[in-house]
Amino acid sequence: MSKKMLVIGEARDGSLRNVTFEAIAAAKSISDGEIVGVLCGAGDLGELGNEMIHYGADRVITVSNDKLKTYTSEGYGQAVKAVIDDENPEGIVMGHTAIGKDLTPKLASKLESGLISDATEISEEGGNIVFTRPIYSGKAFEKKIITDGLIFATIRPNNIPALEKDESRSGEVTSKDVDVADLRTIIQDVVRKTSEGVDLSEAKVIVAGGRGVKSAEGFEPLEELAEVLGGAVGASRGACDAGYCDYSLQIGQTGKVVTPDLYIAAGISGAIQHLAGMSNSKVIVAINKDPEANIFNVADYGIVGDLFDVVPKLIEELKKVNV
Ligand code: FAD
Repeated sequence: MSKKMLVIGEARDGSLRNVTFEAIAAAKSISDGEIVGVLCGAGDLGELGNEMIHYGADRVITVSNDKLKTYTSEGYGQAVKAVIDDENPEGIVMGHTAIGKDLTPKLASKLESGLISDATEISEEGGNIVFTRPIYSGKAFEKKIITDGLIFATIRPNNIPALEKDESRSGEVTSKDVDVADLRTIIQDVVRKTSEGVDLSEAKVIVAGGRGVKSAEGFEPLEELAEVLGGAVGASRGACDAGYCDYSLQIGQTGKVVTPDLYIAAGISGAIQHLAGMSNSKVIVAINKDPEANIFNVADYGIVGDLFDVVPKLIEELKKVNV
């Protein structure tokens, strides 16, 4: 299908989020037509635009405006809508991130389009583009096709691989002026609860702790293990409720949904609400002193033992192989 596709990119702390590159790959799997990147923000976005091209976009439109310095659905909604009106694409793809979840339904309703959200796979079957997405908190998957009209989709981070970066690719990066109307919500400052480091929702490796960690200090070995593996720390709601860590780390039905390559669950029982957020991880390792714990039912590798014995040993061994 040679449809013109728009990919809405997302930057954080001056860098593009990896899901932007995955969204470009997703758009290319839907269409062999032109892939146009869109970037909103403040200041010079040219370098980021070039990066989208290195990952497969044919051309990029940037909308820079002081009112777009931080995300608001109102500001970004106006900016992206102006680009859509100009470009008249046949499909729009974005990451299923906090911003993607907020912006895309707003745009889809304005454009009177449907939206396939949280796609984990895109394939072609019988001439149709088929989107696979989890339902019932990840217990089942449904397949959807769009037979007519605008294709509007968000993709779950870490599921659709990005293309190799190719710095020899070139394409036009143009800036578009959008007269963003006065915003009703003005973000004065963004205070991050999580520390710097790997973003939980995009992490390839997550080391998550549960109530079995027993205290805030109990998270320290998990933080060290995450650091050795270049990953992020997550938590069960049990650990958050007990005050051992911040709720921004919570994974599960009412927390973040993650699909890392490796998920290490330490001192987590494996309640259904926790599994809803992590059971689609590619490899799951569970460390629990109770051999009957439900987490072992979804684990690829299980270690029955005290996490305070097991985790330091893992760190020691991993340091030897210098991962
Ligand atoms: P527990 O169930 O208490 O398990 C602790 C585990 O640690 C046990 O298996 C124990 O054997 C093990 N353990 C103890 N000490 C050690 C040790 N030294 N070494 C190794 N293992 C040890 N939960 C979520 O996680 N995410 C959600 O998003 C979420 N949403 C919810 C939404 C609703 C509407 C409801 C009702 C509940 C939700 N919950 C959620 C809560 C969920 O039901 C569980 O209560 C919670 O996941 C339990 O957390 P836990 O596994 O850390 O604690």
